[in-house]
Amino acid sequence: MTPLSIYIHIPFCIHKCGYCDFNSYALEGLLEKGHVGEDWAAAYAGAAIRDIESRASALGLAGMPVETVFFGGGTPSLFPAPETARILRSLRERFEILPGAEIALEANPGAAESGRFAALREAGVNRISIGMQSFSDTALRRLERVHTGEDAREAFRSARRAGFENISLDLMFGIPHQGLDEAAADVESAIDLGPEHLSAYELTIESGTNFGALHARGELGGLPDEDTALAMWEMRDRLLSAAGYERYEISNFARPGFKCRHNLNYWRRGEYLGAGAGAHSFIAGRRFWNHARPDHYIKASGDPTAGKEIIDSAEKAIGETFMLGLRLTDGVSLDEAARSCGADPEEIFGGVFSELIESGLLERAGRTLRLTPKGLLLANQVLQKFI
Ligand code: SF4
Repeated sequence: MTPLSIYIHIPFCIHKCGYCDFNSYALEGLLEKGHVGEDWAAAYAGAAIRDIESRASALGLAGMPVETVFFGGGTPSLFPAPETARILRSLRERFEILPGAEIALEANPGAAESGRFAALREAGVNRISIGMQSFSDTALRRLERVHTGEDAREAFRSARRAGFENISLDLMFGIPHQGLDEAAADVESAIDLGPEHLSAYELTIESGTNFGALHARGELGGLPDEDTALAMWEMRDRLLSAAGYERYEISNFARPGFKCRHNLNYWRRGEYLGAGAGAHSFIAGRRFWNHARPDHYIKASGDPTAGKEIIDSAEKAIGETFMLGLRLTDGVSLDEAARSCGADPEEIFGGVFSELIESGLLERAGRTLRLTPKGLLLANQVLQKFI
């Protein structure tokens, strides 16, 4: 039986950052509008547990082995650790959480007191991913983050003191008015802390965010031009590689043995069950997702489904396999894709493969296709071809 991955979405944040297009909500705003009450955490954990129970029984998943659990957000570190522990206990009652399973949780340095980390470690969480974004207080203010660079360093030290031996840091570059030297200083500071894993990605401006609105009105100044952005990507790769981190995905780097197993499962198009507001699942060729607003989710948690899609053609399945798998530097095996999707990828996407190879964006090594360094830089354009 192939082990399952489980994702739990915790949508609450202290403040909605200007660039954020995740399904996340400022807790204070939800309380003010009456969307959640003072018992928000217990109510949400209860809803997530009902969601997990009903899915496990309706989909025949009870007792399945689970290799990864990921609490993402939002700000899972803002969620009271006893409620996180309650959700984990409920998972252990319904599934076989494998020995050595990766149990990860995202933390914001603005909600990362050492007591919380100790309680999370005690509950069985064994990987912490800290959203630092930058060590520069000026850059953090521009991003509307609620913490300082020193808070970020302290969050890392607290997680270590609490016994976490697998810590990932999120860094961002291309922040408005950030120069190449400042971006490099951030990467160097992150390396100095010695995390096992780093996600370092370029700021993207998404519609529906404060930054998106400012950008549309021409009021978001200081974004890097193409040459500066390219220099930042190259600097990031050079510094992290020199420090012993292997790049294994477009924006992800790890020391040996510390790749994020949960995300690897997504990129390899493995099955996963998602619980929580707006969480997506992919089980037996079906994708389905939950109501996004926390209050709607809490009310509907016996059946929180907001939408579903059946992946009913080999073409769609193969398209997804390449769209996800080419993000990995290992690329995608043609034989493995044919076996899992039930059709020959070259029959369906042969023309696209040739076009990308001729453009220098894709390369072939035996029966494996992978992005070239140029393809990794232009990944968004390349991956669109498989939708
Ligand atoms: S802390 Fe993270 S999830 Fe919350 S608003 Fe900021 S970027 Fe979004």
